[in-house]
Amino acid sequence: MANFAHMAGIYIHIPFCKGRCQYCAFFSTTRHDDMDRYVQDICLELEMRRDYLNGADIDTVYFGGGTPSQLSPEQMALILDRIPATSIRELTVECNPDDVTAEYMNSLHSLGVNRISMGVQTFNDGLLATLGRRHDARQAANAVSDCHKGGIDNISIDLMYGLPGQTPEMQKTDLECATSLDATHISSYCLSYEEGTPIFRFRNQGASDELCRSMFHAMCAHMKEHGFRHYEISNFAKPGFESAHNSSYWNGTPYLGVGAGAHSFNGKSRSWNVSDLDAYMKGIECGSPVSETEILTATDMYNEKIMLGLRTAGGIEADERLERAARRYLESGQMVKEKGRLHLTEDSLFISDYIISDLFEDQIID
Ligand code: SF4
Repeated sequence: MANFAHMAGIYIHIPFCKGRCQYCAFFSTTRHDDMDRYVQDICLELEMRRDYLNGADIDTVYFGGGTPSQLSPEQMALILDRIPATSIRELTVECNPDDVTAEYMNSLHSLGVNRISMGVQTFNDGLLATLGRRHDARQAANAVSDCHKGGIDNISIDLMYGLPGQTPEMQKTDLECATSLDATHISSYCLSYEEGTPIFRFRNQGASDELCRSMFHAMCAHMKEHGFRHYEISNFAKPGFESAHNSSYWNGTPYLGVGAGAHSFNGKSRSWNVSDLDAYMKGIECGSPVSETEILTATDMYNEKIMLGLRTAGGIEADERLERAARRYLESGQMVKEKGRLHLTEDSLFISDYIISDLFEDQIID
């Protein structure tokens, strides 16, 4: 097993978006005037927190958003200059198809970017309009091909299912379009209708639990047929192209998150920056970042290991305590023990939230 003790990741949150998607409940802003100032503040935060990872080698860097492809290559270079590049094996940038050109990709490639996560969501132009996305299916396909032209071949496509009015046939077309493009990785999430988002009003046209479940199974079968390994509930990869950065979240590798709303984990505690652009920038500029920290108890860590590990195909190392708690799922065939590890079967992954929370240990209050 790999030794993660001296490896770590860096997550950089870029909250700027051209417009707001109808389903978005993330922290993001359409206020672009502050981008240069924000980039400077990210650089400052990287300086201020350079000891957070205790001298670990930086294995992965991930620009997430928001829309990181709203950054110019020059702005991205300023940030990357603050990160020691010698050990980085995966450098991912989330992109929206409408920002992508072969020239832009070529500039990112020159900066060391070697993986793109493309926010496609669906190849159905009607559904893209309902979601408030700013691209169409043709642009999405062109964006993937522009990544290759620019020299970046490790491409992940983000999809969603359970969209308002989406039928199983429409989902099948999405899956066929995604696997027909030259991608190494596909992530696909069931749309969540969050209260307060514009799409919430369409929740009655969304897929029922039963339809979502059958879409999940159709997706698993399609991906398998096309050579993608199902390695986490919502993630599929061609062999060897599992996301190293996201895998580190699931296997407990420490990471530093910089930028407004970014989360960090150092093995003992979790902390998160304020999800407010002005408060974040003012805090960094006056040397007192606005953030909160939670020290993890032994029970928190045990529960997190279950919550994160059981989402993955590799599962978690079996121990007596966990096996005892999982007995009924092992007996019913929803969980399996293999090579000393416990994992959920693909069939039970869809109801993993229920099983995982049932395996949680209660906090012991002294
Ligand atoms: S691009 Fe992403 S972060 Fe921005 S509004 Fe759309 S869903 Fe939200």
